[in-house]
Amino acid sequence: MIRLEHVAFRYEAMEMVFDAVFPRGSFTAVIGPSGGGKSTLLNLIAGFETPDQGLVLIDAADVTALPPDQRPVSMIFQDNNVFAHLNLWQNVALGISPSLKLDPDQTAKVDQALGQVGLSALAQRKPGDVSGGERQRVAIARALVRDKPVLLLDEPFAALGPALRRDMLSLVLAMQRARELTVIMVTHQPEDAEFAASHTAYLEAGHILALRPTAELFAADDLPGLKEYLGTP
Ligand code: ADP
Ligand code: MG
Repeated sequence: MIRLEHVAFRYEAMEMVFDAVFPRGSFTAVIGPSGGGKSTLLNLIAGFETPDQGLVLIDAADVTALPPDQRPVSMIFQDNNVFAHLNLWQNVALGISPSLKLDPDQTAKVDQALGQVGLSALAQRKPGDVSGGERQRVAIARALVRDKPVLLLDEPFAALGPALRRDMLSLVLAMQRARELTVIMVTHQPEDAEFAASHTAYLEAGHILALRPTAELFAADDLPGLKEYLGTP
């Protein structure tokens, strides 16, 4: 479970305050206008940003002051998830050991994760020699080997076409269900939220205005900003 207790964070004139609970094993989509604070919300949970006030709790532990590598969290970004000079196998292995020194069990784990995302045959290639979708599979495989209870995704598949996006989301969903991960995924695609997320949060101007079952949120008529964002009358 992730709990944000009055987490305040300021960028110049933009004051953000987040109060929210994401139950263990839940899959929540986060939608809302650009500049609203969606990435900042994830960065505060992952530890890439530190709140000015408030508490970030993960499974009842206060992680507010912990650096990212000490939090039980994996994060996948839209791009820049991979190192160009390392092959795909090494990029996945980084999830276990930054020095790439792996024991036989860990080596087997990397092989297995590459297999699970369908990349075994490409393991020796460099990221520049595979497609964008395959690079995102590397990021998913790295999250698999890290095996952390929280997975954060920041517009992870925005650069991919609809069919590929659906494939990737299916992979993430399977992983989430098998391991009871708590997943938060920022997306601009309502259909991605409807496909994968039991709940969806609408975030605007630094605040979560609503966090509801996904179908309920998209049907809401008490959120004028949401209608404008979605372009629905
Ligand atoms: P979103 O992901 O919803 O587009 P962000 O979390 O990236 O929104 O940004 C929220 C606000 O914080 C925006 O007003 C943005 O301009 C500001 N912001 C984000 N990153 C920085 C930064 N590194 N320095 C200054 N302001 C930033
Ligand atoms: Mg963002």
